[in-house]
This record gives sequence, C-alpha cells and structure tokens, in this order.
Amino acid sequence: MRKRKKIIKRRALLLIVIVVLAIFTLFWLNKPNNLQNKTIEILKKNDAYNKEYDKEYQDIKYLDIDDFSSKVNKYLSIGYTGKEINNLFKLSKKNQDKLLELEKKDITKFVNIKNFNIDNLERYNEYLKNNKYDLIDIVTYVNINLDKDFYTETKEVQDPDSLLVLVNKYNHLPSNYKPKDIVYVPGAYGNEVPFRAVLKDDFIKLQEAAKSDININLMPTTAFRNESFQTTLYNNYVSKDGKEAADTYSARPGYSEHQTGLAIDLKNMALSNTRLTDDNFEWLNNNAYKYGFIIRFPKDKEFVTGYQFENWHIRYVGKDIAKVIHDNNLTLEEYLDLYVIEY
Ligand SMILES: [Zn+2]
Repeated sequence: MRKRKKIIKRRALLLIVIVVLAIFTLFWLNKPNNLQNKTIEILKKNDAYNKEYDKEYQDIKYLDIDDFSSKVNKYLSIGYTGKEINNLFKLSKKNQDKLLELEKKDITKFVNIKNFNIDNLERYNEYLKNNKYDLIDIVTYVNINLDKDFYTETKEVQDPDSLLVLVNKYNHLPSNYKPKDIVYVPGAYGNEVPFRAVLKDDFIKLQEAAKSDININLMPTTAFRNESFQTTLYNNYVSKDGKEAADTYSARPGYSEHQTGLAIDLKNMALSNTRLTDDNFEWLNNNAYKYGFIIRFPKDKEFVTGYQFENWHIRYVGKDIAKVIHDNNLTLEEYLDLYVIEY
C-alpha cells in the first residue's frame, strides 16, 4: 500500500513538472523577445511608430544602425514584411540603401552571400536559369561578367599602376599604357626582358628557389609587351589560326596582362621546345605564391579567365594576396570580387 502511494505521488509530481514546463514554453514562445520589444520602443522614441505596422514591428529585431526607424518604415511602405526586413538588414549598407529606392525585390536566397550586388539581381536570376553552379558561384561569376560575351561591354581600367590591376577580356588598359618603372633582367636566349621594378627582387628569389629546390633554370621569355607589339602578335595568330582560336590563347591589343609589366612567361632553360614540364609546373604551382606570384590561367578555371591553361604564365600580385589566391584556389577575377570590391 505504502509503495503504491509513493508511486502515485511521484507520478503526480512529474505531471505537475510537465504542465509547468509546457506553460512556461508556450509563454516563452509567444512573448516577443527583447530586441523586438526594443524595435517598438525605439520607433516610439523616434516618433516613427505607425500603429498600422504594429504586427510587422513585432517581427523585426532591433539593430543599432543609423536610420533604423526610417529604414524600417520605408521598407514596410514598399511592402516588405517584418521577417523580410530582418533579412534586408543582413545585406551590406550599400545594398540596403539601394533597396530603399526600388520596388519590392525577392532577395531572400541571396542574403547570406557577401558579394551580392542588388544591381545584378536580374542577371543572377537569368544566369541561374541556364547554369547549374551553386548560388554562391552564380553571384561571383555574374559579378565578373561571365554572363556576358567576351569583349562586349568592356571597361577601361582606372588603376593601371596598381599591383591588383585586372586586365582581361572585359577590362582593357588605357591606350598605349606603359608602366613607369620598367627594369631589364636577363632572359632566355640572351634577351634582356623588361618588367616592373616592383617585382624584380621577388622574381630573383623565385629563380633561386627553383634552382635550389628542383635544380632548374627558370628564365623569362617575355614579360612587359607594349601595345603595338601585342597588335602584331595577335594579328599574326589571327591570320594563322583564325580569330576564334586566337582569342582562346592570345589577348587582343590593350587586353593583354603583359602590357601591365606584371606578367612573366617562363621557360626551363634545359628544355629545347617546351617551356615547363609537369614536374616543373607542380613545383611552380606549390611555390610561386611564396614570392608573390600566381598562376594566372589555371587548368580548372579556363571558363573564368577565358584563356587556355598556361603553365608558364605567372602574374605578380604581392605575397599576402598571392597566398590567399593560392590557398583558396581562386583566380585574380574571383579574388577581387570576393575580397576587394565592396558591394
Ligand atoms: Zn603570358
């Protein structure tokens, strides 16, 4: 008897605990959290509380940003819900401000993509229809213009002397650009090869490392090329192979990275015809970044760079950036979009 009573007592106690917990949970779930309360509190304080939006306000988490109250009301007037507004606040300030001027957009799936640019929203959606890349790559590829044909809507670069200058099939140098700090170093075949002074010390260190690590003489065949030389070169390729083929391996005048003075084509002097062996390249691929150089046209990124894989063409960007590009398997285009440009 006593034992039974004890069991009943225990069960009753358990039931009470469950009921209390359930009530507490329900209460907790329904209660607007502190930040949501704070939203209404701040709106009222700023004289921006609009009774009509009260229900939406309750979904909006307060953020300590400039113009919080006016932004919230503006987004609500455009037609965004409170929950959608929390998402808008995850975007960059530039994007947030641009959205204030536009009619309602569906950007939910992009909110956590850091290089999302509202200006490109329609292009992302269009590119998404025809390509199977992850959304995060879709954004980068559209930002770097891969949804447009090469050599269409091209731009002149604004910073031709920058170590990060981007010259590709969408970006060309100012007419007849020539860097001011050209120096000459001994090249293959006894030539003196010109490139920018800023990369000279690191290039010599790269040559020394190649010699001591795998015992090869890495020599430049060509580095800086002026526009008229590039014109001759490109025209020769076109008459030999046709324009379409030439475009896959040679740049049009003004669109060659060699004209920046930051690109070098390499040769292993022990080889008569080919530039580098696979083993030479493997070493270069694993070590060039330590001296500030990147493999500019990698094998798996031909659709990004618009060029066939070139195991001999390196580009100087400086050590810190070369390491990021190397470690993350990026091209210069992708690096600039992901790490430099602020959207
Ligand atoms: Zn080259």
